[in-house]
Amino acid sequence: MASVGLDLWWAALLSGAHRVVVLGTSADAPQYRQALADQMAQGQAVLSGLGYAGVHLQMVSIDTTAPDALARLDAALQAAASTPPAALPTGRFAITNDKRAALELALQHLLDHAPSLRAATPPEALALPGAAPLWGTVQVDAAKCTTCLSCVSACPAGALMDTADRPALRFIEKNCVQCGLCQSTCPEGAIELAPRLLLSRERREPRVLHESKPWACIRCSKPFGTVQAIEAMLGKLAGHAMFQGDALERLKMCSDCRVVDIYSNPNESRITDSGLH
Ligand code: SF4
Ligand code: SF4
Repeated sequence: MASVGLDLWWAALLSGAHRVVVLGTSADAPQYRQALADQMAQGQAVLSGLGYAGVHLQMVSIDTTAPDALARLDAALQAAASTPPAALPTGRFAITNDKRAALELALQHLLDHAPSLRAATPPEALALPGAAPLWGTVQVDAAKCTTCLSCVSACPAGALMDTADRPALRFIEKNCVQCGLCQSTCPEGAIELAPRLLLSRERREPRVLHESKPWACIRCSKPFGTVQAIEAMLGKLAGHAMFQGDALERLKMCSDCRVVDIYSNPNESRITDSGLH
């Protein structure tokens, strides 16, 4: 049961099925049943939010140890089959083995034909129920983010990206699987996850979540790091015994200038001053 998911269910609905019913039994691990119920609730919420009337996705749970288990199953399936909703618009795309890609193809087809998006005031985004959302955005606290880009390295889905020519954090919402790795990686605690399904075209396009001014080396003016990152580092190390006076000022220099400063500063103690060779 746990090997199927929303990609397959939506593909079935877009291939002519009116309703998908998944049977869960007391023999299945409760965690599997809960995960499937959450995913089914999200899939149904999206269909309803897009204006497709009726219940297209349904889960039936049966206690197989009950003496009348078969009779209950029969009744549940009869009920599920009794009032089928209208079929969804037939899809004309090839389903791939990549679950996320298949889900995206099905979602795009549903968006293209969604009755609610043809209304005078279409919704901008849909709220998603359940504990493990499949789509969503990330919110970055501008007061905390230093644009260190650790979250970019942590993101397994290519949703977070750096920017080639300036310190800026970019995001493609379509790619975000709400795994939370960016949130747990951020050293500043600047990221919050926000489950939702954005319905506008912006969902597929990169947007800047946060950007910082580059820091200019106080010796040669070459840009390195960001103003927020350097100021945060200076604030954290200001009281440290190893970073007083010249050493603290050196943190404001690029790596080349730090070396030059160490070797040209007459106040700097060197290993050769002690007579060791
Ligand atoms: S959100 Fe956190 S990890 Fe990402 S760039 Fe900002 S400070 Fe760094
Ligand atoms: S929640 Fe996961 S997929 Fe989304 S941006 Fe963060 S790391 Fe990337």
